[in-house]
Amino acid sequence: MYEVETKCIHLMNKDTSCDKSGAVSFPIYQTATFAHEGFGRSTGYDYSRTQNPTREQVEKIVAGLEGGIDAVAFSSGMAAIAALMEIFSPGDEVIVDEDLYGGSTRLFSNISEKNGIKIISLDFKRDEIEPYITKQTKAIYFETPTNPMMHVIDIQKISKISKKYQLLLIVDNTFLSPYFQNPLKLGADIVIHSGTKYLSGHNDTLAGFIVSLQPEIAEKIRYIIKTTGAGLAPFDSWLVLRGIKTLAIRMERAQENAFYLADWLKSRPEVTRVIYPGLEEHLGHMLLKEQAKGFGAMLTFEVKSKAFAEQILNRVKLIQFAESLGGVESLITYPITQTHADVPPEALEKSGITDKVLRLSVGIENAKDLIEDLQQAFVPDKEEIYGRK
Ligand SMILES: *Cc1c(COP(=O)(O)O)cnc(C)c1O
Repeated sequence: MYEVETKCIHLMNKDTSCDKSGAVSFPIYQTATFAHEGFGRSTGYDYSRTQNPTREQVEKIVAGLEGGIDAVAFSSGMAAIAALMEIFSPGDEVIVDEDLYGGSTRLFSNISEKNGIKIISLDFKRDEIEPYITKQTKAIYFETPTNPMMHVIDIQKISKISKKYQLLLIVDNTFLSPYFQNPLKLGADIVIHSGTKYLSGHNDTLAGFIVSLQPEIAEKIRYIIKTTGAGLAPFDSWLVLRGIKTLAIRMERAQENAFYLADWLKSRPEVTRVIYPGLEEHLGHMLLKEQAKGFGAMLTFEVKSKAFAEQILNRVKLIQFAESLGGVESLITYPITQTHADVPPEALEKSGITDKVLRLSVGIENAKDLIEDLQQAFVPDKEEIYGRK
């Protein structure tokens, strides 16, 4: 069995690769369809909506990294989650954690609900789940750590409930990537990834994955992608393949930088709260230490005022004010108007996502340069110094 760093680069069994040319960088099979050698004879490929060799290669790598029997690559994380919801039927119920990626909340409450799937949203770190389980309940869905408040949810504890009631346990593992956390090994049945983030890692493509552990589920997902058609394109599959090769060193470096930034932010009087699970005072620190191999490189912080949050967004130079995360470039986001713009105000308030909260996706630049950038962004405006504001 290869170690994770090796699995990012090589398939466990080279013989399962469809490419026999010996190419070290897997070829991009830029083709829509595949010719048959004759009646009743096939190369194993028919049409790229169903499968394409480059997509298949990235799927095998991701399945190997998560310890699943199959991974299916979609054109984005949301395409993957939307396809996953097709395994449910009208009348089914899905219990979800309330602190979710804003796009997932939008999908569940506007599209899944319209399609007759009842979504029950709970606070998994506080509410008991069992009282909400009915005969119609089919699955439990959450992210850990959550976005953007970085709550850590106990995968094994929830998997005991899902197993007791024969529900599917679905975990969105985007924030830690398979390098740091493997939910399937902790009792989850399905893992979701926005491959746009750490897996591809260079802010240059969108991608999504559904990784499954049971053959019946894998078969259903294969049927859905063939039928609804949001598969990852050959070139984008190649970009993700290339990105994953450096996943291990990117994750380590980004995490190291996140620790530096968390410490620096903590030392600043303008910062009222630093939420990074790597910090010992973080409520989920011990749990994350048990269920994952690292703390990741996402950190959220709260500043003294909305005006100060805006000042930082206007002033950062190296750190870019942009949505998304998990790339080599450090990005800062303002969840209230960006990732979580469509989340109802009551839900935002309950989660503590205020207009003073900023989220940093720490990249792999030199930490000193990142801190200097924040430092210059923190210097008060002239008007503020001279009292004209
Ligand atoms: C970005 C993200 C998604 C959605 O993925 P896209 O690739 O942007 O469609 C889903 N879940 C989490 C946790 C994310 O960060």
